Amino acid sequence: MEEVNKTASGEEPRKLNFLEEIIEEDLREGKYDSIMTRFPPEPNGYLHLGHAKSICLNFGLAQKYGGKTNLRYDDTNPVKEDVEYVDSIKEDIKWLGFQWDKELYASDYFDQLYEWAEKLINMGLAYVDDQDIDQIRQNRGTVDVPGTPSPYRDRSIEENLRLFREMRDGKYEDGAKVLRAKIDMAHPNPMFRDPILYRIKHVSHHRTGDKWCIYPMYDYTHGQCDSIEHITHSICTLEFDVHRPLYDWFIQTLGIFPSHQYEFARLNLTYTLMSKRKLLELVQKGLVSGWDDPRMPTLCGARRRGYTPQALRMFCDRIGVSKREQLIDLQLLEWCVRQDLNARSNRYMVVQDPLKVTITNWEKGKVEYFDCPLNPADPEGATRRVPFTGELYIERADFMEEPPKKFFRLRPGGEVRLKYTYIIKCEEVVKDEQGNITELRCTYDPSTAPGAGDWRSVKGTLHWVSVPDAVKVTLRNYDRLFTLSDMSQVPPGMDYKEFLNPDSLIVGEGWAEPALLEDKSALAVQFERTGYYVLDKDSTPESPVFNKTTSLKDSYKPE
Ligand code: ATP
Ligand code: MG
Repeated sequence: MEEVNKTASGEEPRKLNFLEEIIEEDLREGKYDSIMTRFPPEPNGYLHLGHAKSICLNFGLAQKYGGKTNLRYDDTNPVKEDVEYVDSIKEDIKWLGFQWDKELYASDYFDQLYEWAEKLINMGLAYVDDQDIDQIRQNRGTVDVPGTPSPYRDRSIEENLRLFREMRDGKYEDGAKVLRAKIDMAHPNPMFRDPILYRIKHVSHHRTGDKWCIYPMYDYTHGQCDSIEHITHSICTLEFDVHRPLYDWFIQTLGIFPSHQYEFARLNLTYTLMSKRKLLELVQKGLVSGWDDPRMPTLCGARRRGYTPQALRMFCDRIGVSKREQLIDLQLLEWCVRQDLNARSNRYMVVQDPLKVTITNWEKGKVEYFDCPLNPADPEGATRRVPFTGELYIERADFMEEPPKKFFRLRPGGEVRLKYTYIIKCEEVVKDEQGNITELRCTYDPSTAPGAGDWRSVKGTLHWVSVPDAVKVTLRNYDRLFTLSDMSQVPPGMDYKEFLNPDSLIVGEGWAEPALLEDKSALAVQFERTGYYVLDKDSTPESPVFNKTTSLKDSYKPE
């Protein structure tokens, strides 16, 4: 059977990725009736673009094969977790366009996990260790040297049960004891050298409050939670492949539903950092304006930047899934954003560095309105009204007094079309005493109005605004946050913050056609000939602020 597959954007067929191959084989063999995946964020920060890859994968696979996806908060470490993060994670997943089946928390299973821990003790497969964390680490050995068994390893089942219950009941200080699995201190995989199952932490939990003062470790938790929820394919990033045998060991030893773990390569992007710990540091040190600063790689930052869920899904689809780490070009993401916005966004004219143009043969005080398409891809669609008067702004860079060859914009004695309207001719250049150009005096040709029979053509078309109608807007022009392409290569002795781009935000201003402020699309818009911009939440009616989403064009082409 020829196995091809449509991409999310419906473009070309692509080959199945390795996870799809596994799932199709499992379904063919009748291993499962239907598939179940989960997305397991730790609520200790905001979601970032790497999480988007994991979300698109987990939700996307379930959707494709008629299964479901749970949202499960991996909330076993009460110290770093926060309700703020829990809420933001839900908002971001919904924004990306996915809906989970059940909203669950690893902490929902604390009773069950505890019960299984007693079961392991009763099976002679777990013991309470009084060594501290450092001793345990030292005694774990290395790849070549077997570990040293703990002096507490051979406690009786009764003693272990009593001590473990006392740990639970709050009889001991943090760090005084741990519960460990009793597997093999000489095992070639160090993960099996009596891993820690529970540690004592007298800390309130955001959901269970003060009910518990012992908390389960990741390895003891994740697989069992998957199993309880009957997750068929538990998909995680590559660094967990060394944990997989232990994941399987707990499930087999406890004899519970056989979930399986599969690993894929995490997303790394050029000029981007995605560690929550470092992103938190940027926020706490005020190096960015918050988690949703438009320069941040967080999903709330991307949203505020004007990136769309469609573009992010297209991006995740294009990068695919593999088992090999690679660095993805940030320009591919920007390319996807442009693809989506080019097709859907409304157009407006905004002049950023104005040069005044006076139309000398325009009747004083006259205003003419042009109905212009909001999106050229839909010429029959909605329009906006653009006022034209005898006092205009064009971009300073669109005029040159002594232009080189192939400069098709305005020059002394030259003609250009002002977009959607007339052809104008530059008759006179006005300068101040220092010789700076302050104004162009031009004439317009009334016979060149759109729709007039002989639409003359000229090479240059410029965007413009009518001065009396223009609205002043603030523009936040963003660039990449870091200057180092591969942020995993920060040289030893240097700090990643030394690579912050000092020009990642440049605030400017613009003069916009009035319709811009009436835009109802809730999408980034295209400032014609310059870039995509999106209205920021810091705007007030008197002072609108726009964030630059991305430039209009780039030489970049995806493979
Ligand atoms: P970070 O290192 O940024 O703190 P994390 O892995 O600790 O990330 P979690 O909240 O535990 O963050 O991640 C939830 C899910 O998202 C996990 O399954 C994890 O493997 C996946 N994930 C995290 N970062 C990436 C990434 N860069 N690319 C793909 N998946 C990722
Ligand atoms: Mg994690």
